[in-house]
Amino acid sequence: MVEAVYEKLIDALNARSTFLAPAVKCDEFFALAAYLYSPVEAEIACAMPPGFATAREIAANIPGSHPDQIAGHLETMANKAVIHSKEKNGETLYELLPLFPGVMELQFYRTGEDEFLGKLDILLAQYLKAMRALLKSGALVTTGAPSPGRKVAIGQEVYSRSTIIPYTEMKELIMENEYIGTAVCHCRHVGEQWGKPCSKPMDNCMIFGTSAKFTIEKGLTSRLTTEQALQVLDEAEKAGLIHQYGDTPDHYSNILCNCCSCHCIALKGYNKSPVPSEAVIARYLVKIDDEACTICEACLERCQMGALKMDGGKLSRDESRCIGCGLCMYVCPTEALTLDKRPAGKIPLKKC
Ligand code: SF4
Ligand code: SF4
Ligand code: SF4
Repeated sequence: MVEAVYEKLIDALNARSTFLAPAVKCDEFFALAAYLYSPVEAEIACAMPPGFATAREIAANIPGSHPDQIAGHLETMANKAVIHSKEKNGETLYELLPLFPGVMELQFYRTGEDEFLGKLDILLAQYLKAMRALLKSGALVTTGAPSPGRKVAIGQEVYSRSTIIPYTEMKELIMENEYIGTAVCHCRHVGEQWGKPCSKPMDNCMIFGTSAKFTIEKGLTSRLTTEQALQVLDEAEKAGLIHQYGDTPDHYSNILCNCCSCHCIALKGYNKSPVPSEAVIARYLVKIDDEACTICEACLERCQMGALKMDGGKLSRDESRCIGCGLCMYVCPTEALTLDKRPAGKIPLKKC
């Protein structure tokens, strides 16, 4: 029975990550999964061990299969970007990607395929709605504990959910990565297609490291030189886009989004939260130098989270709303704004 294969796939995907959106059992998930994986591909996905493995090792987990036949399917899956592949010591290795971040983000890099993506958008929206309803009803329990993340190049431990990274750290991240890929921002691209274009630049979804190498090789992203990447970053910063980094413990994704609060689904969600700083990993908090502040109010509009306001003729911050993006600093003419590290123990946790 086809659904049994996709039901098994739920566990395989969630074993990789439940960050952002776990795979949950519902008709909408089965529809989404069937759109992305054929039944044979789903079976192979379920047989993939954690981490990278050869076609031979994967075939060994599928009774009666032949490595050559499995290798053919794995290549198709890698070309569809539902799994990663890489070459090592003359062999091709394959790795199953989690649903989010992972498979979905890579699909959205397929910008030339509007018909495919249009249907995927609908299936995904239906799935996310069903998943949220199930989570809200208490019918599903997911772990709220983040998994320890990998060390990113800037030397900061991250957890398996979005981390807000200010400009200076972004620069370091760019300088330290050999492979950087870029693609069109899917949220703003969809806005444009639906007649709601965004005024912000669009060619700035970035991906780093092994994931970047894979997406560049598959033609999903374009490779950037360090100089080009810094230029993209500068343009994003100037436009007031928030740098949002997402990865999983096994660095499946390594994605850097430059997001606007008008089109980014995630940012819209944080904004609606009464405590945005707990909806993301907010490692910094804005600090105001009252003496340097000339009350010009330029920073008020710049802040996407409504964390700054005038209070009795003085600028004040709302700690719970500040996500430490540093965008406000960019427009301050007197350098009255800086970022302070939030206390380590205050890294907020978010339930999936
Ligand atoms: S998450 Fe942000 S950068 Fe990524 S696609 Fe959405 S708006 Fe664009
Ligand atoms: S106050 Fe500044 S650092 Fe905090 S969220 Fe707003 S723009 Fe970002
Ligand atoms: S931009 Fe700078 S000077 Fe102007 S209100 Fe904000 S902190 Fe004060």
